[in-house]
Amino acid sequence: MNMPVEAGNNLVVIDDEPLICEFIADVAGSYGFEVRTCCGLGALAEVLDDFEPSLVLLDLNMPGHDGVEVLRFFASEHHDSSVMLMSGEGGRVLEAALRFGQEIGLNMLGFLEKPLELERLESVLYRNWRGHGLISEDELRLALDQGEFLALFQPRAHREADGSWRVRDVEALIRWQHPRFGLLTPDHFIPLAEELPMIGEMTDRMLEQSVEQIQGWQRTHGMDLGVSINLARTQLNDSGLPDRLLAIAQRRDVDANRITLEVTERGTMRDTAAAVEILTRCRLKQFNLAMDDFGTGFSSLTHLAQLPFNELKIDKSFVSGLETRSSDRVIVRSCIALAHSLGLAVCAEGVESAATFQLLDRMGCDTMQGYWISPPVRAAEIPNLAGNFRYQRL
Ligand code: C2E
Ligand code: CA
Ligand code: CA
Repeated sequence: MNMPVEAGNNLVVIDDEPLICEFIADVAGSYGFEVRTCCGLGALAEVLDDFEPSLVLLDLNMPGHDGVEVLRFFASEHHDSSVMLMSGEGGRVLEAALRFGQEIGLNMLGFLEKPLELERLESVLYRNWRGHGLISEDELRLALDQGEFLALFQPRAHREADGSWRVRDVEALIRWQHPRFGLLTPDHFIPLAEELPMIGEMTDRMLEQSVEQIQGWQRTHGMDLGVSINLARTQLNDSGLPDRLLAIAQRRDVDANRITLEVTERGTMRDTAAAVEILTRCRLKQFNLAMDDFGTGFSSLTHLAQLPFNELKIDKSFVSGLETRSSDRVIVRSCIALAHSLGLAVCAEGVESAATFQLLDRMGCDTMQGYWISPPVRAAEIPNLAGNFRYQRL
């Protein structure tokens, strides 16, 4: 299936060597990028007049300019662009320029060493492609057959009866171990996979890996952890799903009540009747159900009340601004009250600081997930992380 190439994959190459510009333009063009090249700052301003780049490849060493001036220009005019530096010099100058770019608010991707290696360049282009069109159905199929999809696990902290916090379960998050481009996050392939029948198989594999791991953690460390997996929004009309998931859990002798299925509001809205039926059947089989990304969809209240959820996950877009935005505090407080009044547990996602954790603890949140506790990690790291995390309000 060929998806339409979405607008917005616009690349600007800034390098004083025309041959380099040409080389990058050729490669990126073959990937489907719209490319503009410039050999100096004067030409750049003109190019950017009617071209909004999503990605910038910038040579740091150009005669007459240092790349830092260019960075400042981007920060003021085109702050949505991601910037990759290029340089033959490496070392301290590059590091300093990267830090400077970050400090002025640019999304700095790192640097490419010169002479450019095709594979490194392709990897940058691949990773920074936005939307559909770069990955084909055949590639995904092959990757699934080769077993290239794997689960990382992110620990979740729960409030205990005595008010302390412990890790009791994890969320499984899919990654693609791509043979050329390294570990890819789901935004590169899940939007396409969700439109294809193979999403069912992907979810099954994630559950298989998850139950295998929770059994492993129990066997090797005596840890009784639960796991959440994400269902695609397109799976809520797959009537075979509840039985398939249960069979996978039973094959590994894992009780369904240790497994939570996360669905988004957008998923439940597609075909509400089908979603009600399938989620109810999952619940009857003792799976837990969580509504993911709460607050980002529509008509959430109806669905929340209609569907047999156990848990509500507040979207990280409200959690990250908790310390600074009073409007987000109001929203989060209302979500917590709403969930509790419906008898649901509340999880806050995207907890990135101790201050946010403390705030949510005081607000009465039940579960927290985020980089401050731990980023998603390989299965082998979970026992240590889970065993060592402790938090107690002073
Ligand atoms: P999600 O289910 O909302 O998962 C949480 C995302 O937030 C994860 O991104 C996680 O790495 C990230 N995250 C965790 N803590 C923090 C934090 O403190 N700050 C910030 N900014 N982000 C944090 P990831 O792994 O890239 O997954 C993105 C989305 O892809 C997921 O969002 C989920 O919707 C989807 N996804 C992941 N795994 C699967 C899967 O197996 N199947 C399906 N259908 N979708 C999946
Ligand atoms: Ca999730
Ligand atoms: Ca989420």
